[in-house]
Amino acid sequence: MTRCFRGLVMAAAFAAGGLWAAEPAAAQEALHDSHFHYLNYNQDLGMPIATVRGVMTHGVQGDSRTDYSVTRSTLFGIPLQQRWDPSALLARDAGHGDGSFTWGAPSIPDDEPVYYLPTHSELYYYSGVDPLIAEAYCDDVEGLTARDGAPFWDPSITGFNPADVHGADHIVRMMTVYPGIFRAIGEFTIHKEAVATKIAGATPSFDNEALHEIIHVASRLGLVVILHSDMYSLLDEGPEDAAYYDETKLLLKDVGHYFKNYKTPGLLWAHTGIGRFAPKDRTIQLAHFDRLQRILDDPLYNHVGFDIAWDFVARFIRGNPAGWANLYDNANRGKRFVWGSDSLSPTNQQKYTDVIKDYDAIFRVPYTQAPARLMQRDNYAMIFDDPLRRYARGYFAHRTGATKWNCKRDTVVPPPSDDWFKGYDDLYPKEERQELLKAIEKDVDEVIGLYPRAVRAVQVK
Ligand SMILES: [Zn+2]
Ligand SMILES: [Zn+2]
Repeated sequence: MTRCFRGLVMAAAFAAGGLWAAEPAAAQEALHDSHFHYLNYNQDLGMPIATVRGVMTHGVQGDSRTDYSVTRSTLFGIPLQQRWDPSALLARDAGHGDGSFTWGAPSIPDDEPVYYLPTHSELYYYSGVDPLIAEAYCDDVEGLTARDGAPFWDPSITGFNPADVHGADHIVRMMTVYPGIFRAIGEFTIHKEAVATKIAGATPSFDNEALHEIIHVASRLGLVVILHSDMYSLLDEGPEDAAYYDETKLLLKDVGHYFKNYKTPGLLWAHTGIGRFAPKDRTIQLAHFDRLQRILDDPLYNHVGFDIAWDFVARFIRGNPAGWANLYDNANRGKRFVWGSDSLSPTNQQKYTDVIKDYDAIFRVPYTQAPARLMQRDNYAMIFDDPLRRYARGYFAHRTGATKWNCKRDTVVPPPSDDWFKGYDDLYPKEERQELLKAIEKDVDEVIGLYPRAVRAVQVK
């Protein structure tokens, strides 16, 4: 039942002199979307930015009769686009509605690749995505102060090659040219089924020093890192198989020291490592929860959190309610999960809100120790508003002195405030703060020294 229709029923109940028992009021829940692609594989939007915000804010009612409204969201594109080559071997939707493809003669514009699966053309990194995101962010003027004066959107830098140190250069440059706008990097991809093998040039890898450098720079500048890497390959069969688990764990451990100042997770492993070919066998699913548990319970990985974004992941979790509740319903583990839609440039309201409905059953499990609102919104706020991260981003904007960009600068680069520490007293005790902020300044200065070219990009004299 839509909200409006329910309103009419209630009004009718009153008109009839209260003969009908009034429906109990629906529960209201606010969500923060940690994983939203505003642009698709062709750098195209589904709906204009302010419309998307309206759709999110309006929200939807789940089967449990809970009204969900998205009150804050990340904002990013897709780093890759596919070479548009009409002469490449090409398949198109057969129109049977079952996802089957037929081979066809090439033509422009019908053959523009809109998703990475149907054609064989390679994918390449398109850095133009990030200025598009910054522009969209600033164009949504109401969005800049939609949350009691705070911005609705948390933009993220995606248009870099994680196997190239120029990626770090790009991140510093975007932070300089658009001061105060970006609060994260990613979602970027290391292992992803058909995508990884189609990328032009070097295939992303955890062994690559460039990747370490990119994570180093992002963490120093107060940016949350959103990493996609499948834990499983298509060839994995049994509960013991997880092709990329060990190497991902090793990477996560290796980069841990970059996050040492922060007491909130700074790296989100997207989809909990589940990919398109998520294991369907029950014992394998339980093994997955066990793998996550091993990371969550080891203090060496305190900087790592997980998003449960993507309808594949929602289905996976719903298939194992007991296993999931056992994993999540522990105060410390529950603090490490964030919800996300993984919606990809939705073209209408329903395309976005249907994903929320996929999670209704997961949110409504009666958790006893770690409330569902942690994953719904609180953890997101805790991570993105970590006062040290805010300080690093603001300090960088201040130090690089970029003034060309005029996007309500006072809103997007607010001066530091003691209020930022509200709610973080346990994590950052008062007596340690000055020292921590000094350490942050040192880290930011070091990055500025390493990437002078990127910082010079905005100097006019
Ligand atoms: Zn992903
Ligand atoms: Zn995604």
